[in-house]
Amino acid sequence: MRKWISMSLILAVVISLAILPGTAHEEEMEFKELPVMNVNVYMMGRDKVDEDITVKIFENIENLNKAFQGEITFVFDELFMDPNHAFLPDLYQSYRHNAGEASLQPIIKDIEKTGGINIFLFDTYNEPGKNVALMGFTPMLSARQNNYATSAPQFDRILMAYDGLEDSKTLVHEMGHFLGLKHPWELTILQKISLGMRSAHDEDNNHMSYGSQNQFTQQQLRNMRKYALDYRQYLMDSVVRVYARA
Ligand SMILES: [Zn+2]
Repeated sequence: MRKWISMSLILAVVISLAILPGTAHEEEMEFKELPVMNVNVYMMGRDKVDEDITVKIFENIENLNKAFQGEITFVFDELFMDPNHAFLPDLYQSYRHNAGEASLQPIIKDIEKTGGINIFLFDTYNEPGKNVALMGFTPMLSARQNNYATSAPQFDRILMAYDGLEDSKTLVHEMGHFLGLKHPWELTILQKISLGMRSAHDEDNNHMSYGSQNQFTQQQLRNMRKYALDYRQYLMDSVVRVYARA
């Protein structure tokens, strides 16, 4: 099954290779590097196959590939199940108090792989006084991103709730963070404009907002591809060079 998915993704890339050169004039074309990134998914607190969850994981990765189409391809490499468990909000609290590694490490150390984006699935709950549950978070370096490679796999993780698989938005949003994007409300007006967000409507409909979240701008996609090539090459299966429109 895994092989088949890898093959179909490769086929999609080959098809786009075949189509692209014919769609623009010679002088507008340039080589573009397209990362192909490995993804592993870990079903924590589960020790037997749950068909429903497996199907949702496949759908989420398919959806991820749609959101990044033409820029980054994600290849589903391995699926793990492990009875070790924690609750996502507890892990988040522990990260906020700089003890994230200490609480997460013991339960994943025997299964975590290097060389891929590791998506860990946990159960979640509504914290007291909140009517929504935490669906995901992504530990990141805010500076010295060259250290991602040397710290691996410490910052190669996306932590997500099983419930977050239901909406197909959570994983895309967290991957945005994983590849360097911030929420619109964390940006200055100039930064928003440079990312192609020129109105409240643009912000509300962006994957990095909590609204309907249905798109990345071309500038965001370009920035994420560059971020991946600059700092996350060690997580790539390959880099495909295509002759594409500038
Ligand atoms: Zn976020």
